[in-house]
Amino acid sequence: MDYDVIVIGGGPSGLMAAISAGEKGAKVLLIDKGDKLGRKLAISGGGRCNVTNRLPVEEIIKHIPGNGKFLYSAFSIFNNEDIIRFFESLGIALKEEDHGRMFPVTDKAQTVVNVLLQQLDHYHISVFKNSPVADVLYEGGHVSGVLLKDGQSFTAKSLVIAVGGKSVPHTGSTGDGYAWAEKAGHTITELYPTEVPVTSNEGFIKNKTLQGLSLRDISLSVLNPKGKPIITHRMDMIFTHFGISGPAVLRCSQFVVKALKKWNLTEVTMSLDALPNQTEEEIYQNLVKLVKSEPKKSIKNTLKGLLPERYLLFLLEQSEIDPAAQGGTVSNEKLRLFSKSCKQFLFKVNGTLPLEKAFVTGGGVSIKEIDPKTMGSKFMNGLFFCGEILDIHGYTGGFNITSAFVTGRLAGTNAALTAKNNGA
Ligand SMILES: Cc1cc2nc3c(=O)[nH]c(=O)nc-3n(C[C@H](O)[C@H](O)[C@H](O)COP(=O)(O)OP(=O)(O)OC[C@H]3O[C@@H](n4cnc5c(N)ncnc54)[C@H](O)[C@@H]3O)c2cc1C
Repeated sequence: MDYDVIVIGGGPSGLMAAISAGEKGAKVLLIDKGDKLGRKLAISGGGRCNVTNRLPVEEIIKHIPGNGKFLYSAFSIFNNEDIIRFFESLGIALKEEDHGRMFPVTDKAQTVVNVLLQQLDHYHISVFKNSPVADVLYEGGHVSGVLLKDGQSFTAKSLVIAVGGKSVPHTGSTGDGYAWAEKAGHTITELYPTEVPVTSNEGFIKNKTLQGLSLRDISLSVLNPKGKPIITHRMDMIFTHFGISGPAVLRCSQFVVKALKKWNLTEVTMSLDALPNQTEEEIYQNLVKLVKSEPKKSIKNTLKGLLPERYLLFLLEQSEIDPAAQGGTVSNEKLRLFSKSCKQFLFKVNGTLPLEKAFVTGGGVSIKEIDPKTMGSKFMNGLFFCGEILDIHGYTGGFNITSAFVTGRLAGTNAALTAKNNGA
């Protein structure tokens, strides 16, 4: 055998798998098709690398709506706090930001990538870059090795597939691993974009009325055909030239995709609450009071500061209120309508940007066919999976990277242990 363990893919999951196998004393080869390792990791979290998240495990699982519960066993072995300890023990100081997000204090993703590369050296892990794997080889119910595109092949006792999903393919993740998993008997659940901007054909989007406008701390919901919220997220958002984006939108996006599919719709309704701290009645009563106190003032000026100006003017227009009209001339009925639009501005969306533009791939290797304690294949001896190739997806905010590191840790450790047992 050329190697104990071969890891295909040098993203966060593959790097962690290779290091973990190295820690167990295995002879490891890490293969990546790109000229750099950790390319997606280097652009994550706005180039600062959102290494993990400090919320309690229960919350982390909730923030991984795509099969997060599958990770309970894995988290009992290696979790977000272990990721923090792992990096801190290697001299990388981390800091916590909003929503529990953890970043290196340097604010540079490369700091995180570099320390992982140093660990590869430390454990004498062989690294092949610019070496796309063409195929994974199996023999008699066991992995036997890999075939590279250039025709070279290498044998191994264990193999970790860590080639990511299909999103942002210029970072190397082009979905190559799904065929290798299928060849081993695995099911690939339907792939779809998640954490992705949402598109809309609404006039105000087409006319770019609100393009570039950011709304802070709003509540955004995806509604079912009966008008009930399927999901609500309270975060920031932005209007773009094709629809909407920003953290709240990214989190809602997978529910838009699923609703379109589930009810066979061409459009789904979303509801925007721009003032989540107040009820509609409170807003209305406040408006009536304000208008009464200065009836001669233009309604636009009376309401100044209630909402960002462009959105205020937009909602006034939606409620058929002339912004220049004196407050006293605006009917209570219209004030009611306006108060309602502050809480529940309804608009239609018709899809998302494609999978290639999504931050994360939904779907992947079915988790039903993976041992949750080892990340080992239930079908093929010596075969392990980790990272985004699995049918696991979380919200942005460090949850996907956490899943990649945790599953990578288990896959690498157990690939090394299996190699040792098979060698004995
Ligand atoms: C712009 C952006 C920002 C993000 N921000 C966040 C964030 O803030 N928080 C968060 O949790 N997640 C974020 N994510 C998601 C997160 O980066 C990914 O979920 C994570 O990188 C997946 O890790 P992975 O190891 O499974 O795969 P990847 O990081 O995709 O790595 C896969 C590796 O496999 C290699 N490979 C593929 N095919 C082959 C082949 N045939 N032969 C050899 N090598 C191959 C690729 O070159 C690549 O290096 C972001 C993603 C993007 C695109």
